[in-house]
Amino acid sequence: MHFCALKKTVDVIIFESSLQLRNHLDKLRLQSLDIAFVPTMGALHEGHLSLIKTAKSSASVTVCSIFVNPTQFNDPSDLQKYPRPIERDIALLKKAGCTILFLPTVEEMYPADEKKSWSIDLEALDHIWEGEHRPGHFQGVTQIVHKLFSLVEPDAAIFGQKDYQQVMVIQKMLKIKKLPVRLVTVPTRREENGLALSSRNERLSAEGRQRAGVIYQSLCWIKDHLTTKSFADLEREAILRISDEEGFTIEYLAICAAETLKKKTEHHPTEKYVVITAVWLEGIRLIDNMILN
Ligand code: AMP
Repeated sequence: MHFCALKKTVDVIIFESSLQLRNHLDKLRLQSLDIAFVPTMGALHEGHLSLIKTAKSSASVTVCSIFVNPTQFNDPSDLQKYPRPIERDIALLKKAGCTILFLPTVEEMYPADEKKSWSIDLEALDHIWEGEHRPGHFQGVTQIVHKLFSLVEPDAAIFGQKDYQQVMVIQKMLKIKKLPVRLVTVPTRREENGLALSSRNERLSAEGRQRAGVIYQSLCWIKDHLTTKSFADLEREAILRISDEEGFTIEYLAICAAETLKKKTEHHPTEKYVVITAVWLEGIRLIDNMILN
């Protein structure tokens, strides 16, 4: 069943239906307006809003989507507990000046009679770091982003550096599918203590949220000492700093080549590095990264 535009507030037009959204965007394209697209899972925070801000300066029209995509969750309880404060999100989008929100249901994005299954060869990216620890995650991410890109046909798509490997995966998907979308990456927004903003932070206790600043501090420490110690020592000391704190469990922390995410062991002055990490605290999985040079 298709719905019309659901609600019209002063500034945000909300679509549940793909068809209605497509018709609306087609009309805008006929006026030669270009489109920047910000896909999200909602529970919006300043990180998402900085993507919206970048979108607004990248194109004439900004489209945001909010969809908690079931196919990218490998942990059913994470999917179930994912925050969905939709009224608050709409108010934030309105304040940020985002004019179009796509808010589909699961049935709208994954119709029961859909024949196509999804599989894309992401090569090593599917098997390392996030790919290794969240099997199927990037297949789910590319599946939904491809559906959304096919629908919105954006000129530019805005993603956060917070999900570093995800940006690489999307870049790869664009290349494989030959989609003419300009990918724009926005720096990670952080809480005052350095913790990367994330919708999942809401599930941390106030004390946990405060102590989680140690993750950022440890990444900064690696950056500050990049050329003075071996990579193995840098990783070991940073891991100790974090895991010495009560309740923190490190899934991975590694210094990698920024272009490939291959783990590196020594410093070459011409190579670009990134440190990436995933840490568990209070049953919440926190990811972060930092470009090192
Ligand atoms: P999500 O709603 O978590 O799927 O994220 C939607 C988009 O917002 C993705 O491109 C994320 O990388 C980006 N994002 C999430 N957190 C942050 C942050 N702290 N700073 C910048 N971008 C972010």
